Amino acid sequence: IIAITNQKGGVGKSTTAVNISAYMGSYGYRTLLIDLDPQSNSTSGLGISPINIKESIYDILIHELEPDEVILNTGYTNLEIIPSSIQLAGAEVELVPSLKREFKLKEAVSKIENNYDFIIIDCPPALGLLTINALTAAREVIIPIQCEYYALEGLGQLLNTINLVKKNLNNDLKITGAIMTMYDPRIKLSGQVIEEVKNYFSEKVYKTIIPRNVRLSEAPSYGKPIIDYDPECKGAEAYKNFTKEVIENG
Ligand code: ADP
Ligand code: MG
Repeated sequence: IIAITNQKGGVGKSTTAVNISAYMGSYGYRTLLIDLDPQSNSTSGLGISPINIKESIYDILIHELEPDEVILNTGYTNLEIIPSSIQLAGAEVELVPSLKREFKLKEAVSKIENNYDFIIIDCPPALGLLTINALTAAREVIIPIQCEYYALEGLGQLLNTINLVKKNLNNDLKITGAIMTMYDPRIKLSGQVIEEVKNYFSEKVYKTIIPRNVRLSEAPSYGKPIIDYDPECKGAEAYKNFTKEVIENG
């Protein structure tokens, strides 16, 4: 159970969640993607229109619907999804008064985890209750970091939150690594940023570096993971290698 987390928006969380899920499925692992972001990017990124969704992760967290009633087939091999919907935006507030509010996702996941080899959770760009739920349910955290000058900004706060969850809610949680995204060799600083991130995470940085690649940014508008949209492009190659690293680590 892997949470893809960073409170910064636009760093590649959803792109990473969608693409490693699709590759895991293609390698024969039974995979479930949970879209925990009200913006529903990983739902639409797999070709499922959020406006057509009747039941979503929101209903699991707030109305205690059974996960089985919400899980959808994606049409991709071994890949199922618990979709998100815009209603989820209200969940941060609606969860506040509920009992064991940090454990809602964990309770749901525990009912179905034996059905899967990997469960990937795409987090919203915030450190609120939804992300806390993801970190409480997960065993591993992967942190996508964009190769840009402000890469380290906010990481202290993120690691602090992860440590608090580990101490108080989920002893088993561990950070398996940072994945550097949108690498552009034309930008001088990119290499330097990677070095800084390696220092910061004491080498817990995945070997694969995801390049900035136009095909990766086009694929979601066709509702396709890169394995389907353009399996030969550089971005596909990178996500394929990254997925292998994640599988080996797990
Ligand atoms: P997050 O989920 O962290 O907000 P996204 O995965 O949605 O970030 O990525 C933000 C934007 O950048 C999206 O438009 C996405 O298509 C694009 N993008 C993500 N990764 C890459 C990449 N490696 N190369 C080019 N564009 C990318
Ligand atoms: Mg996202």
